[in-house]
Amino acid sequence: MIRPDAPVLLEIRDLHASVDDQTILKGVNLTIRAGEIHAVMGRNGSGKSTLSKILAGHPAYTVTAGSVTYNGENLLELDPEIRARSGVFLSFQYPVEIPGVSNLEFLRVATNARRAHRGEEELDTFAFEDLVRERLAVVQMDPVFLDRSVNEGFSGGEKKRNEILQMALLEPLVAILDETDSGLDIDALRIVAGGVNQLASSDNATLLITHYQRLLDLITPDYVHVMAAGRILRTGGKELALELERTGYDWVDQELARLEGGRTPVEVG
Ligand code: ADP
Ligand code: MG
Repeated sequence: MIRPDAPVLLEIRDLHASVDDQTILKGVNLTIRAGEIHAVMGRNGSGKSTLSKILAGHPAYTVTAGSVTYNGENLLELDPEIRARSGVFLSFQYPVEIPGVSNLEFLRVATNARRAHRGEEELDTFAFEDLVRERLAVVQMDPVFLDRSVNEGFSGGEKKRNEILQMALLEPLVAILDETDSGLDIDALRIVAGGVNQLASSDNATLLITHYQRLLDLITPDYVHVMAAGRILRTGGKELALELERTGYDWVDQELARLEGGRTPVEVG
């Protein structure tokens, strides 16, 4: 929901970033206010995951120019752990498996770190079990997944549900969901999208990174941004996603060629 007077939660200005001396982001600008749902779309290799990893503080990526302000603070100066605790949540495109670490305990430690940051008391095992059982409903998840190792042997859909469960417990201010729809069948997609919709509120914001329109049939974005070659080329409302579905990304090449002075950049597909 767009409210022009809502506080800005995330302000990305002219963000440039590289990995292994290769420039990936070439001036990303994005302003996200409380209550908004943004979708970033774009072909493979356009820099979507790079943007999300930089926001989460992934050490492999170097910010070479620009700024990111999160809830009034310089996000880029905060350690990844502090970012997570203060309410920046990233759901990975490929959630990691952590053999030997109980999912329940993993979720409890993460939840307590977030609670401590908010000045709330730590939940012991029993109190946490009550909370987690209540939140399982958000993603219609079976409690047996709590007793297993984090994501170990989970199907693609179960991993994504586990990510949304984590989000339901952490109550982030800014949730970044990187291709949460990839590899999901329609039932799992509905459940995951339903969870995201339940958790979106006027106090928080959601950044959905997706390749396909189909997720946006279930989660209605306030803004859609098209990313290409490390920049946001175009911003519109939810109708922009529908237009992309019809026209594809061919116009992107022409616009990039114009921007880069006649050269047509090659994107990996
Ligand atoms: P998207 O998520 O839009 O598909 P990515 O952000 O994953 O795109 O990748 C953007 C570009 O950056 C690609 O060309 C990719 O190969 C490159 N890239 C991303 N991460 C790394 C890395 N760790 N090492 C080398 N190149 C990378
Ligand atoms: Mg990606």
